[in-house]
Amino acid sequence: MCQRLGELREAMGDCAARFDADLITAGDASRAVEEASAIEKMAATVKALAAARVARTDVWRRRGDRSAAHELARRTGTSVGQAAQALETGRRLSALPETAAAARRGELSAQQASAIADAAGADPSAEAELLDQARRSSLQELKDQCARTRAAALPDPEARRRRIHDRRYLRTYNDSEGAWNLHMRDNPEVGAEIMAALAPIRDRLFAQARAEGRREPLEAYAADALAELARDGSGQQAPFEASASETSTDTSTEPASITPVPAQSAQSTQAAQPTKRSAANTKILVRVDLEALLRGYPAEGECCEVVGYGPVAVSAIADMIRTADPFLVAVATRGKEVVGVAHLGRSPTAHQRSALEWLYPTCAAEGCSALGRLQMDHRVDWAQSHVTVLDLLDRLCAHHHGLKTHEGWALVQGSGKRAFVAPDDPRHPRRANAPPGAA
Ligand SMILES: [Zn+2]
Repeated sequence: MCQRLGELREAMGDCAARFDADLITAGDASRAVEEASAIEKMAATVKALAAARVARTDVWRRRGDRSAAHELARRTGTSVGQAAQALETGRRLSALPETAAAARRGELSAQQASAIADAAGADPSAEAELLDQARRSSLQELKDQCARTRAAALPDPEARRRRIHDRRYLRTYNDSEGAWNLHMRDNPEVGAEIMAALAPIRDRLFAQARAEGRREPLEAYAADALAELARDGSGQQAPFEASASETSTDTSTEPASITPVPAQSAQSTQAAQPTKRSAANTKILVRVDLEALLRGYPAEGECCEVVGYGPVAVSAIADMIRTADPFLVAVATRGKEVVGVAHLGRSPTAHQRSALEWLYPTCAAEGCSALGRLQMDHRVDWAQSHVTVLDLLDRLCAHHHGLKTHEGWALVQGSGKRAFVAPDDPRHPRRANAPPGAA
């Protein structure tokens, strides 16, 4: 086997030595890219499998290395992180025959194989679908799907959130060129908040540079934005003008603004504001299944993620909603269907109001044709959910609203015009939702 590899290497070396891209047609060059890429992928698979075999022995220890990954990194001229990833892939492939076969055929890059092996290791039933996705989508899309697969396979997203929080860190070091580096690890929602704070500054610096004819990558201006944020001490200033006097009042009352100042920063509201954060370009977009949000944890197949940052615990989104994070936009879904954009204030927006008026031209209570002075009603108490979603709103006449508020009557589950029942009716949502066996 090794002799065969030696012969292949010699043949490949011969081919590479003679290869001159300028002497072939564009069509042949394109073919060469494909062939070389397949060879590269196959070789990476063989390397990963072989390296995993070496790692199981103590050969690397005898060579004086700190770990098998350190040895592999030193011998192959890669980073320790990449070497560790290759070893892990090599180890996992033995338990994932379909992925191993695709990798051996040169259909998966090292990164694709690593992402799939990692996710399918957590949930083997997802292997076939991930392999199919690898054929169709970009590496980033595949990685996102793999992250979702791993999160879904994890029994407890709340435990994961706590564990990541417990192991959070911010480290700095100087690299070989003498540059200062920053490496931070924390939950995705924390990253989303930091990036949302940087975005408006970064975009302003980018626009300014373009106007002056300078062209650098966006990430360069993101670095400048962090430096500017640190210099201005913006952490101590409130991003928005808001009614600071009302932040300490009972949350069950109507909030004066959806963007209250956090209590700890209320005293410095008057500080200078170098970059005003506008809601337009500083969004944290979260997608959450409405039922998961109301329940507090996702059921199988339900989604809860910060878009672009990956799956998060439901509590992470609930926390952002409760603190009225000014950057937050929550898209509520039910499976693949978008239920609405959750609005964080108590009163519906003008659009929601119009939609409700169209959906409920008359009182939602069956048999009631009242048209005038209909009142918006939150199906789930706003003080509990803190979101206003069209799907959770009804319109009731003053009479039926009074019965609901003061005597515990309610609309049965569902939406649209439907039965309005007394508290002792078996169809009352409180009884319909009770666990089986409860009186
Ligand atoms: Zn009515």
